[in-house]
Amino acid sequence: MKKIAHIQKSAPAHWVGNGFHVNSLFFYEQDAEALSPFLMLDYGSPKSFAPSTQPRGVGQHPHRGFETVTVAYQGEIEHHDSEGNRGTIGPGDVQWMTAASGIVHEEWLSPKFNASGGVLEMAQLWVNLPAKDKMTPPRYQEIVKAQIPTVVDEGGARLQVVAGEYAGKRGPAMTYSPINVWDTQISAGQTLNLSVTDGYTTLFAVLKGSVKVNDTQTVTSPALVVLAREGTEAKLEALGADATVLVLNGEPLHEPVVGYGPFVMNTEAEIMQAMQDFQSGRFVRAKAAA
Ligand code: MN
Repeated sequence: MKKIAHIQKSAPAHWVGNGFHVNSLFFYEQDAEALSPFLMLDYGSPKSFAPSTQPRGVGQHPHRGFETVTVAYQGEIEHHDSEGNRGTIGPGDVQWMTAASGIVHEEWLSPKFNASGGVLEMAQLWVNLPAKDKMTPPRYQEIVKAQIPTVVDEGGARLQVVAGEYAGKRGPAMTYSPINVWDTQISAGQTLNLSVTDGYTTLFAVLKGSVKVNDTQTVTSPALVVLAREGTEAKLEALGADATVLVLNGEPLHEPVVGYGPFVMNTEAEIMQAMQDFQSGRFVRAKAAA
């Protein structure tokens, strides 16, 4: 069984714009190497929004050097960007946006959901790009629920394979480095035995419920478990109530991480360049349409 390296409770929830009330489960500044290739995870637990005619969300802002992965659990989220991509995701859908060389986007509650009101539950993960891919053209993958294979484990737990592979099922997301993103639902009393690649970063983001990890530690949501890189076996047991655990498993990049706000690069000079490009209007590609 893998050793548990570290457990951390989430910081208190904060607002991103006026649409996303999230708990930050991790952020790369705390220990970029231990989390690599993952940079950040925000989770917005179920939150009720009253009907509104005023848009709610985050207006135009840039990103460079990494990918943003947005998961909608409940409610609807809309996105548009400087590449001309536009999409609305609902329960079970995922937006996988590769900012890479530079993108400017907006993230909103969908106009329909905003008008009707309702419960929003979502997560946003940031995945780093290898240095050689940071300045490649942006890409946008809209992944609907029907494309994401579900595996029912022997113990009855369900896993949605968003990226990578589990039990022979491949997730639809194209990635730049080897990663697995498994969205797992473990009913109360069920146990999920996981086998992961030795030497990879393995993170358990406990979004809902309480779980016993590797028969030793009890972890209550929202919290993060960082497992040791060594070893391949891990175990999650849902205690008392149904649990949702986002399992992140990936090959560490072993490259310097230098970030500033919406930019994550490898050097200070590249961050300066990103700021200069953004201020001078040379940030997005010529085909910019939004
Ligand atoms: Mn963004």
